[in-house]
Amino acid sequence: MIQKNFWQGLRQISVSILTIASATLTIAPNAAAQAAAARKTQNVIVVIIDGMRWQEVFKGVDPELIKTVGPAGLPAGKERAAYAEKLFARSSQSESRTALMPFLWNEIAAHGQLFGNRDLGSDSHVTNGFNFSYPGYNETLTGSGDPRINSNDNIPNPNVTVFEWLNKKAAFHGHVAAFGAWEDFNGIFNKARCGFPVNASYDAFTDMPATPELTLLNHLKTEGVRIWPDEVFDPPMFYTALEYVKYAKPRVLFIGLGETDDWAHAASYAEYLNSANRSDAYLAALWNLVQSMPEYKDKTTLVVLPDHGRGNGAKWTDHGQDIPESSQTWMAWIGPDTKPLGERKSTTPVTESEVAATLAALLGEDYHAAIPNSGAAIHDVLPQ
Ligand SMILES: [Zn+2]
Repeated sequence: MIQKNFWQGLRQISVSILTIASATLTIAPNAAAQAAAARKTQNVIVVIIDGMRWQEVFKGVDPELIKTVGPAGLPAGKERAAYAEKLFARSSQSESRTALMPFLWNEIAAHGQLFGNRDLGSDSHVTNGFNFSYPGYNETLTGSGDPRINSNDNIPNPNVTVFEWLNKKAAFHGHVAAFGAWEDFNGIFNKARCGFPVNASYDAFTDMPATPELTLLNHLKTEGVRIWPDEVFDPPMFYTALEYVKYAKPRVLFIGLGETDDWAHAASYAEYLNSANRSDAYLAALWNLVQSMPEYKDKTTLVVLPDHGRGNGAKWTDHGQDIPESSQTWMAWIGPDTKPLGERKSTTPVTESEVAATLAALLGEDYHAAIPNSGAAIHDVLPQ
């Protein structure tokens, strides 16, 4: 009996070891497959709201700045300020920020994550040291600051953006596009080299068949009043991007909104707020559109951020190296892989240099390994 039990026992142990071994063998590939299956993002959209301060994003209208009437050259300054105050000023910061950016606070705060409220210990910033646009876009799109990118001159970017890097991969080739109000996007993305459509500023968009809507948008863009020689108003640029989304369904899309920065430099707080509110409405329109399309629905991640911050108090109109606080930014993420943690508190600081690798990681690509100089992906917004 003892002998029999011994052999039976040994046999059972052997079977158990074999079972464990085979289970271990099958667990490894399953875990990898599970991790891949867990990642739902198939498309990424980057929207940059140029020079939009974290202060208004998280605290709404500044009660002091709303009293300023803006430049004498802009008619009806007093009425503009009063109207913006009526639209966006409220008795609490949380009501005011929701009035100003309802999509950010009703949709992204409920289903995504917002970084950058310093009052709650969440820091987001640029690392390029310049605190102005081209260096900020370059950092965000390539994953690191570059001391050679030290002006806003519209020069062809010597660096390769994560957009161009993805466009070289078979899965994304021909499914990448960039639209922006500022003419420098031609340089930032290196339009001549990058191999995907880049439509910037007052240029007509001709990289898709003409539709009645596109034809009208091209008229508005090329014939409209040019307040800023290097930057078209946001609406015709934004709706051109939407037309292209409907037509080509790009998997990697950039939209650069510019009016917030221009009106801030012009010292019109009212128009700065109006353009922030319009930018938020564009986020809602874009999100509603993609969520209505099977190619995008519940498999698209959207990130929204500025390219730099601005000064505090009376210095709110400006930014740059001599205004240290203008390195302060914010970022908002929403998508099927990003946990709905809402307005973040007490986080590890996030930087614009981490955005490129994060976008790639959400698409299943390791940009940080390929470009070690780039910031690592932001763990908190990736599938956990
Ligand atoms: Zn600026």
